[in-house]
Amino acid sequence: MKYDYLVVGAGLFGATFAQQAKEAGKTVLVIDKRDHIAGNVYTKEVGKIHVHEYGAHIFHTNNHNVWEYLQRFATFNRFTNSPVANYKGELYSLPFNMYTFNQMWGVTTPEEAAAKIEEQKQQAGITDPKNLEEQAISLVGRDIFEKLIKGYTEKQWGRDCKDLPAFIIKRLPVRFTFDNNYFNALYQGIPVGGYTKMVANMLAGIDIELNANYLEDRHKWDAMADKVIYTGPIDGFYDYKLGCLEYRSVRFETEILDMANFQGNAAVNYTDRETPYTRIIEHKWFEFGKDEEGREIPKTIISKEYSWEWKQGDEPYYPVNDEANSALYQQYKDMADRETKVKFGGRLGEYKYYDMDAVVASALEFSEKELS
Ligand code: UDP
Repeated sequence: MKYDYLVVGAGLFGATFAQQAKEAGKTVLVIDKRDHIAGNVYTKEVGKIHVHEYGAHIFHTNNHNVWEYLQRFATFNRFTNSPVANYKGELYSLPFNMYTFNQMWGVTTPEEAAAKIEEQKQQAGITDPKNLEEQAISLVGRDIFEKLIKGYTEKQWGRDCKDLPAFIIKRLPVRFTFDNNYFNALYQGIPVGGYTKMVANMLAGIDIELNANYLEDRHKWDAMADKVIYTGPIDGFYDYKLGCLEYRSVRFETEILDMANFQGNAAVNYTDRETPYTRIIEHKWFEFGKDEEGREIPKTIISKEYSWEWKQGDEPYYPVNDEANSALYQQYKDMADRETKVKFGGRLGEYKYYDMDAVVASALEFSEKELS
């Protein structure tokens, strides 16, 4: 059978494109090398808890179209992300807001907090922040940088904060209000029943083949469709011939605990340098500790997240968008732009630190162009 489209990768980009193509009357085959759909947003049900197998995914967006689009495939709960930072046993609220400033310095008003930050910024003599460290100090001052940012960031990225781009820290809000919501998004939540169910709904009625590795047999797969939408790593597509793009990878140590409540929150970040993991996720709190019938779940499941440098064969998670990698990506992209049968998309296809909503937005935009 010959399809109009072969979609390589059943993550959010692939699923969104496949859904749109089917709706436009195209025939689509989706393949994925893993034994499940949903890419890194995959959630696995273990004892009524939806475990975020590839790390915590909290959907949030300001994009009305994306939100409306996903409502077709899932009902979102009212989860609001408010991670707690644990620095050597001291607890701080995140993101950086009046609760954090109060816990750090005892200040009680926005004016006092702003003065404290300004004083520390002046002492550091930063006028035009050039890297993550300078950006962080100029946003929240040195104390917060030292206790809540430096250790965590160096663990997460395996690089000194001076060698990282400033934009990474600009992802986090800084607020002079008492508001622990990690995101400044209009819409936020977790799909009821987990992300896998949402992606399955997106892919309803579409042919799917799992355990199917495109790169291992691309002639066979290419012959199956007129066009290919490839959402895997772009450098892998070209056999890494110009070199490997770097990623950070993550490893999770997951445990089922015979207790109802381990840490009282979905995410606790360990922001010191010595604790080997970056954070602990307690999955049940993404759904308020209850199963789909609203019953309390007696056990709990936690995942400790360890970050390390990706090497070929590991799961790529975070693109390292520094200058060298961005330049290398551009070379691969120039090659990709010359392809006629294959189009590239998504976090790995575009080597981009994408949030989920941005992936869906980009897939919708791409679909509109491709399918019109
Ligand atoms: N970050 C930090 N301390 C924290 C949480 C985050 O320094 O407790 C920094 C860190 O550099 C991280 C960046 O903020 O890479 C962005 O964090 P975010 O939570 O957006 O990362 P993600 O959830 O995508 O892993």
